[in-house]
Amino acid sequence: MKACRACGSAQVNSFFSLGNMPLANALLAHPQLDMEEPRYPLDLSFCQECYLIQLDQIVAPEKLFSEYLYFSSFSTDMVHHACAIANRLVIERNLTSDSLIVEIASNDGYLLQWYQKSDIPVLGIEPAQNIAKVAQDEKNIPTRVEFFGVDLAQKLNREGKQADIIHANNVMAHVPDINGFVQGIRLILKPEGMAVIEVPYAVDMIERGEFDTIYHEHVYYFSVTALDKLFKKHDLIIKQVERISIHGGSLRLFVTPITSAAQQEDSVLNLLDSEKQMRQQWQLDLKVKQLQVELVSKLRDLKKAGKTIAAYGASAKGSTLLNYFGIGREIIEYVVDRSIYKQGKYMPGVLIPILPPSALSERQPDYVLLLTWNFAAEILAQQSEYRTRGGRFIVPLPQLYEV
Ligand SMILES: [Zn+2]
Repeated sequence: MKACRACGSAQVNSFFSLGNMPLANALLAHPQLDMEEPRYPLDLSFCQECYLIQLDQIVAPEKLFSEYLYFSSFSTDMVHHACAIANRLVIERNLTSDSLIVEIASNDGYLLQWYQKSDIPVLGIEPAQNIAKVAQDEKNIPTRVEFFGVDLAQKLNREGKQADIIHANNVMAHVPDINGFVQGIRLILKPEGMAVIEVPYAVDMIERGEFDTIYHEHVYYFSVTALDKLFKKHDLIIKQVERISIHGGSLRLFVTPITSAAQQEDSVLNLLDSEKQMRQQWQLDLKVKQLQVELVSKLRDLKKAGKTIAAYGASAKGSTLLNYFGIGREIIEYVVDRSIYKQGKYMPGVLIPILPPSALSERQPDYVLLLTWNFAAEILAQQSEYRTRGGRFIVPLPQLYEV
């Protein structure tokens, strides 16, 4: 890697390496099983200048399957989370039928629908056509099927579209041209507007060893320090920040144009300060090694004792965990997933078949490894029948436990 993608500094050091890995969302159909899967290096670097953690090499976007199989509304937790922030902002920001809410990566309309219910105009931006179609056809949400960046922002400006609120949830980490993305936000934000941005928090990932958030689609792993520098470069300021539990620990940033009145609140200053204290100890290797030893020996012992083991969640996270730890079909017989798009396919690399969740009640495996542990509460509740009959879940992260 030559230079930092955010600040251009050449002072970039290697941070953590997963080696060559298959693409985490490239689920295999049966006929592809004999073909050699492409693998790409998955190495992270750390910029000494702006502190941004980033992938060394980017896989071309057309090779990435992106999240075109990921519908936010499949998770009731996500929909509740969206409803809560929308209702809160309507009151806090005095939003009316004259306001405009823009969401970048608006998915199936899981968030904008709540503004629309309050008669506040919305505009979704979603590059995945099949997902945008659901927002348009089923929820009647105006959606631009495009990638967001400076070009689209200028186009929207020419159409007179300026936003009171811009939402961008779990999208910033995916965008290689991060400067263009932030510049685009600045361009379409009203002077008194606010961008509300959620990103997984790198410090949570590091402290809890949540390495399974690392896959080729995630180019960036953000700290407040790195984001603070990035936004300031584009005349934006993080006014306030909240730590939220979603996706294993995330930041919710409240970002406004820089004006003389725009002060950073204590929530921001405190995190900047704590990151400064901790930064020397940022390393992931030890935690990950420890989890690997504990989890793999636990699963092998169960297998030796004649237990049957399945897994839940054919997610990108799951693909990273299984592939990096080398947990294959000899341990996990099958993975179940609610998405009908994933059922009948195979996990990348480890080639474990994906079945519908009903397989758990039909086959009643002794143990289920929960790969989508970031939705643990929701999934454990859904699987109460399997658990009542004696089935056990193994939750690998944020710390290994059995339930
Ligand atoms: Zn940098």
